[in-house]
Amino acid sequence: MSEIKHVLGISGGKDSAALAIYMSQKHPDINVEYYTCDTGKELTETYDLINKLNSVLGKNIRLYKSIDEVNSPEGNPFDHFLAMYGGYLPSATSRWCTGKMKLEPFEKEIGDNPTISYVGIRGDENREGYISKKENIQSIFPFRKNIWSEDVIKKFLSNTNIDFVKSEYEKHTNSGNIELILQYVNQPISTTYTQKQKLNALLDTNVKLFNKVVFQWLKTTDYPVGKLDSFSLIDNDEVLGIDAIFKILDDSGVGIPAYYKPIEYEVEIDGEVKHGTYSRSRSGCFFCFYQQKIEWVWLLEQHPDLYEAAMVYEKEGYSWMEESLEVLKKPERVSAIKKEHYIRMNRNKLKAKTATSWQDEILESEGEGCASCFI
Ligand code: SF4
Repeated sequence: MSEIKHVLGISGGKDSAALAIYMSQKHPDINVEYYTCDTGKELTETYDLINKLNSVLGKNIRLYKSIDEVNSPEGNPFDHFLAMYGGYLPSATSRWCTGKMKLEPFEKEIGDNPTISYVGIRGDENREGYISKKENIQSIFPFRKNIWSEDVIKKFLSNTNIDFVKSEYEKHTNSGNIELILQYVNQPISTTYTQKQKLNALLDTNVKLFNKVVFQWLKTTDYPVGKLDSFSLIDNDEVLGIDAIFKILDDSGVGIPAYYKPIEYEVEIDGEVKHGTYSRSRSGCFFCFYQQKIEWVWLLEQHPDLYEAAMVYEKEGYSWMEESLEVLKKPERVSAIKKEHYIRMNRNKLKAKTATSWQDEILESEGEGCASCFI
């Protein structure tokens, strides 16, 4: 049905870039609108990635604007909203930046149209990602074994829906393990049989069949997927982790965003010179407060102009973290941060008992953050 809109937000990070390529190659039947929300403060590497994706996807990535830049005295979204907030820098506990520059323009563009939003949470991650509060927007996670959002699963597996699920399974399966499946379906969720256990049991028996039954149930609801005649993702049982993501980017020619590449640094520990590596683990604004200290050191040494630009925002008691950038850039602090990072990384390598790769380091450091900016 043509009135359902399909959208995919590209943050500049590896996962959303890989998802865009994946959807265009594996599900060309779905007419996806690719979009990005520019804060005006992204790294050059992010803009390079979006340009490369434009040619690989064969269609233009739309810019969902948060401000009218021509008529804003500040000329770019971040500075515009910072002025509006009286110079109050965003932080993990007061994150006005994502709301104003990512979520509001997204929801404004979508309006009241039934919309399916594809989100690049990987199969090896344990987080849910952004779920819009608006009922006309449904999130789908194509890289995960469970492609459905938490709210869908909660309603679908609720004890009051058991009869429906049972009858749909009976209609759609001729497989030999129907008795086992029905045993899982019939068992109500309780303190000893959780929603997660029930979900995993059903997914483990047959992902495609599970998706088919969910699809039938969605047809009885107002969810956008339920308004479709067919949905090719229900026949998808691939689960993609970080290695698969890097492969998609490499194979497509888009490549891995340059800031993920490890760069060697030297640090003196107990009179010995050691060689560690650092990189940036996330896309988003160059001054993002979610950065780890070692990422600030990376910015200082690899993009000193951007570090200086980030420092300019720190005034009148406002800083990006508990330690000001003026203090962090002192050579003794830089050495201490590298030393702590080197020791932690080597401890992790010893714990893993196998060589850890730079992909492992990204996995380790990407944990905290904002799904809208870093996926
Ligand atoms: S990257 Fe960081 S600073 Fe920029 S909008 Fe996202 S959360 Fe805010």
